[in-house]
Amino acid sequence: QAFIDAIEASNDTLNAYVVKTPEKALEMAAASDKRIASGAAGALEGAPLGVKDLYCTKGVRTTACSNILGEFTPTYESTVTQQLWDRGAVMLGKLNMDEFAMGSSNETSRFGPPANPWRRSGSNQTLTPGGSSGGSAAAVASDLCLGATASDTGGSIRQPAAFTGTVGIKPTYGRASRYGMVAFASSLDQAGPIAKTVEDSAILLEAMCGHDAKDSTSLPEPVPNWRDAVHRGVEGMRIGIPKEYRVDGMPDEIEALWSQGVEWLKAQGAEIVDVSLPHTKYALPAYYIVAPAEASSNLARYDGMRYGARVSGDNLVNTYEGTRSAGFGQEVQRRLMIGTYVLSSGYYDAYYLRAQKVRTKILNDFQNAFESCDALLTPTCPSAAFAYGEKAGDPVQMYLNDIFTVTANLAGLPGISVPAALDGQGLPLGLQVIGKALDEEACFRVGGALE
Ligand code: GLN
Repeated sequence: QAFIDAIEASNDTLNAYVVKTPEKALEMAAASDKRIASGAAGALEGAPLGVKDLYCTKGVRTTACSNILGEFTPTYESTVTQQLWDRGAVMLGKLNMDEFAMGSSNETSRFGPPANPWRRSGSNQTLTPGGSSGGSAAAVASDLCLGATASDTGGSIRQPAAFTGTVGIKPTYGRASRYGMVAFASSLDQAGPIAKTVEDSAILLEAMCGHDAKDSTSLPEPVPNWRDAVHRGVEGMRIGIPKEYRVDGMPDEIEALWSQGVEWLKAQGAEIVDVSLPHTKYALPAYYIVAPAEASSNLARYDGMRYGARVSGDNLVNTYEGTRSAGFGQEVQRRLMIGTYVLSSGYYDAYYLRAQKVRTKILNDFQNAFESCDALLTPTCPSAAFAYGEKAGDPVQMYLNDIFTVTANLAGLPGISVPAALDGQGLPLGLQVIGKALDEEACFRVGGALE
């Protein structure tokens, strides 16, 4: 009830929730109370959570914040959210996001952007909570839920967490089922939580992960006890500092944050090693080919016949064109055109195939680096939260914000963002820890030490 009241009081300003489900929440909470009374409490019993609007929720409108999904109300539940409810969590509603998770500022949502509860000192200007999981980050940061589901294709869990002073982790590709998550780029998409502390993120991630026969890329690996790893410390761990992440024009504050992180880890007994990831500069261009290519294929299903909104024309082609022109926003249309272009015959080898080769090189870089270290430490983003409109007019500027996050997706590796400092204007900055495949434990150990 306290969270429902908080949402009522401030969601009009924050625009974090795009669907509120107070009745459902109270019903689920009452069922929780009964389980607690009978001594059968689950791991998340009674925990009030928000759900990114990308997860299908049975009987609750799910649109990935796109007009093309109209009033689509799924008849089934995503595996990840089902696992949360099975452990006793309570659903408060659906959270704002960039349309189809394409963006870094949540400005492409059909419902308008959510607000970051943080402000620059002395300024009243509204800042973006980041994207695409901007609603999840804004809701957690402003206590409109205890934790939230999010998703990360190129940084959409970690960047919003960094912009709002919260914790976000993307697990190894295949750890969490993609069943019932609206697809963006299937070889990159991963579920994960945004939470208030590293320990909360470990508890939530444990509940979200595990093998699922309904997702063919789901890994048949047991889920470790990550919660215990958070307080294990970093004594004896080797932490790699990739020199290629020291990019041109990196603000001094980000440099200082990174050095501070190094000092903290050294002081706690970690050994710092310099490593090289030579293909880093190709990561962003490769990502912005692979992701749109997969999106153009995935989003072909929105044809006005099967789901959501339709604009009827006088023949089939007109109906497709009318529906897709009206239903998809500008950024989604841009991605679909890029994706279709790089997959077309004549350009496939030059762009898509080349990007896939770069992807392998990036994975090899990480594998080589991990021969001399257990985890990597980097800044999460090249800046703190920015204002609405600041980058919206220039897609390339917006894409550059993802420079430190897309590499983990291209290589399928786990990455956590932990709030580490405030910049000169009082805004939160995040440090990122990237682990080896299936070694989320290293992310939680180092994350716990940085907190
Ligand atoms: N900002 C990146 C993009 O626009 C990543 C999005 C995401 O991780 N969903 O594609």
